[in-house]
Amino acid sequence: MTQLEDARNNILTDEMKAVARKENVSEDFILKSVAEGKIVIPSNKNRNIEASAIGAGLRTKVNATIGTSTDIINFDEEELKAQIAIDNGADCLMELSIGGDLDEIRRRILKMSPLPVGSVPIYQVAIETIRNEGSAIYMDEETMFKTIEKQAKDGIDFMAIHCSVNIETLARLKRQGRKAGLVSRGGAFISSWIVENERENPLYKNYDYILEIAKEHDVVMSLANAMRAGAIADSTDRAQVQELIILGELVDKAREAGVQTMIEGPGHIPLNEIPTNIMLEKKMCSNAPFYMLGPIVCDVAPGYDHIVSSIGAAASAKAGADFICYVTPAEHLALPSPQDVKDGVIATRIGAYAGDMAKGVHNGEKDLQMANARKSLDWEAQYDLAICPADARAKREARPPEDSDACTMCGNFCAVKIVNEWLDESETNVFDAV
Ligand code: SF4
Repeated sequence: MTQLEDARNNILTDEMKAVARKENVSEDFILKSVAEGKIVIPSNKNRNIEASAIGAGLRTKVNATIGTSTDIINFDEEELKAQIAIDNGADCLMELSIGGDLDEIRRRILKMSPLPVGSVPIYQVAIETIRNEGSAIYMDEETMFKTIEKQAKDGIDFMAIHCSVNIETLARLKRQGRKAGLVSRGGAFISSWIVENERENPLYKNYDYILEIAKEHDVVMSLANAMRAGAIADSTDRAQVQELIILGELVDKAREAGVQTMIEGPGHIPLNEIPTNIMLEKKMCSNAPFYMLGPIVCDVAPGYDHIVSSIGAAASAKAGADFICYVTPAEHLALPSPQDVKDGVIATRIGAYAGDMAKGVHNGEKDLQMANARKSLDWEAQYDLAICPADARAKREARPPEDSDACTMCGNFCAVKIVNEWLDESETNVFDAV
């Protein structure tokens, strides 16, 4: 049985217990939320990982994508990037390779990762078809399903499946007259296939069969958002909303089949549209967890898109998003380096943390501890509390004060020290008359 079926049968699984402990919430809350589909637990039956959960009432989770490109194929470096993401606090990984032996790299990442691992199976189908036959338009339907099954058997915990790209969605896209077209790689492969073959998307047409595979291995369906805008100018348009309506119907079907689902979301959207997007998703998709890709809240900062996305992550978490896919400084420019992966994970964690405070998932208790450590100039405590302790330590120690317990920002004029002297220690009577 899947986690969803177990929860509906009032069976509290080991995974649910572990999640309740980790999140500091009651087992009843997890059981009820999983049964209602508001929380998913990506944990393929063929893998043994420490369970974590995504959904309403929990800490907003962060995903790091890794994977080869067609230009840079270095499996050791992808493993290194995965390890860096894990070490820096990512909650999940997505293995999105499109270069080299795709089975080998996926299995290597699954073997080394203690985190849930996601994939986009249509990449493998498209890339291998392009290698053999020259174009993704020759993708074979049977191969699509066999690839999904192979990846499920390998232990993939959540899969982005492009089921909602159908003829109806593409008609809306064509009429919309977008500025930046499609930026979803999987969406591009599938939409080209539909148009060139003049046939309906096999992943949409045979969705029930995909659900059978997902159910057998308890793979979470991460229903892909192929129509997400790739430019602020295209945000929240008719094509995207059309796809969301179909996604909602696909969630209902998955739930009937006992399969866990979450919904992927945009993309490039301005800050003011984030709450609307989240409200629409939750309403139309029966409160399925929302997996925001970024979001990118302005288009003009290549090289710094991890910061752009961190702002989007904060606003998204605050407005109710449950899972955020990181963006690295290399976004729109190159395959991320190991340093880019680290910067992307940390930037997204900061955004998610800030959003969670505003959402009330935590009440800033760590921030209070940090305030105390700062007031007492306790540098070791400050490092320990930092989102990245090593970076905080390295930054101070690179420019240390010569003869002070403060730092070199204000040096001898350290405001904290000056004020501490009268705030805590002085016997002054100056305030008595106030
Ligand atoms: S020197 Fe300035 S920045 Fe450094 S701890 Fe004191 S007040 Fe803060």
